[in-house]
Amino acid sequence: MKTASTKMGNFNVLHTDSGSQARRATLTTAHGRVETPAFMPVGTAGTVKAVTPQQLKETGADIILANTYHLLLRPGIETIEKLGGLHKFMAWNNPILTDSGGYQIFSLNSLNKVNDDGVEFTSHVDGAKIYLNPEIATKIQNRLAADIIMCFDQCTGPPVTNIAQNATPSFQTDAAELKKAVQRTIRWAGRCKQAHTNTNQLLFAVVQGGIDLQMRTHCALELVKLDFDGYAIGGLSVGEGHENMIKTVSHTTKLLPGFLPRYLMGAGTPADIVAAVGAGVDMFDCVLPTRNGRNAFAFTENGPLRMRNNANINDTRPIETECDCYCCKNFSRGSIRHFFNCAEMLGPILVSIHNIRFYQRLMANIRKAIENDEFADWADRKLKKYKKLYNYRASSSNFAL
Ligand SMILES: [Zn+2]
Repeated sequence: MKTASTKMGNFNVLHTDSGSQARRATLTTAHGRVETPAFMPVGTAGTVKAVTPQQLKETGADIILANTYHLLLRPGIETIEKLGGLHKFMAWNNPILTDSGGYQIFSLNSLNKVNDDGVEFTSHVDGAKIYLNPEIATKIQNRLAADIIMCFDQCTGPPVTNIAQNATPSFQTDAAELKKAVQRTIRWAGRCKQAHTNTNQLLFAVVQGGIDLQMRTHCALELVKLDFDGYAIGGLSVGEGHENMIKTVSHTTKLLPGFLPRYLMGAGTPADIVAAVGAGVDMFDCVLPTRNGRNAFAFTENGPLRMRNNANINDTRPIETECDCYCCKNFSRGSIRHFFNCAEMLGPILVSIHNIRFYQRLMANIRKAIENDEFADWADRKLKKYKKLYNYRASSSNFAL
């Protein structure tokens, strides 16, 4: 067993797999410990859609993500403070990570005005003009008081010339803009670090650079000089495809300190996660289990189930016989199909619970495989299976429903 600890003692690597870069570690935050590799369900507007915090905890989730962009627009930071702060607001007295808002600003707003200081963007809620820069984004996250906060960065889309087949990226980036975005991301990270005042929070920087490995190298090395509590890999899972994503991740993780946590933002499918863990990633977030769950798409070890299908009408089996989630312990495929067909809320609730449990079980199995020092072989088998079963064609954002 190799051991290492950070300067702050927050991240403790318990074991590194002998056949890959996969690590089993623990990350200690102000609201408790996170067992890594970890998957963070996404609580976009202060709630993981369709799931209560109690149900969420029962799936095995240690940590969840909340989106600064959405909370800033509604209900606003002051209101969250008046309501007792983000943890109280979400009724989640466990670790929370907030993103900086950068991804939403650059992917949802085609009319944003960006310069070297910051970005002016238009609220998608009421059309109001809002200005964010590294200092403002950091102060907002200091006030929200999540356990882990992210540097304000300029997120980029996949390159205009290199988009995976069938992918439909929401935004694209050419080489000149990519270079500019990387330079800004580095400078903005320095400003975020200066502005960061809440010592109870860990501040992670975000490595950008698209799938340009030279840009990734430059960005990673410059950010590491600034000395953060952890490093995220951003700007992936935006339509570049699985192979490009994993190639970029494998390249980037090697440039980041081994004794600090690494977080791949916005990924991914089961295959994305297994492959990225093998490349040394510790943390993930993705809307797939919840978004797909609300659309009657259930993840199982034997492939996806579409719960609205007529094949389920008289099916007494649970979604997954071996699953220990509340949905599988209590409901048949037939009843779940009925709930979806009658637009009953319970349908989306049940499949969201099951899908999050599927993801948390995947993470638990990953952690066990690393502890047993058999991750490389295990991952090989799982990757082949998941790529085949899940009609793999592009990246998480283009996942076939
Ligand atoms: Zn289940």
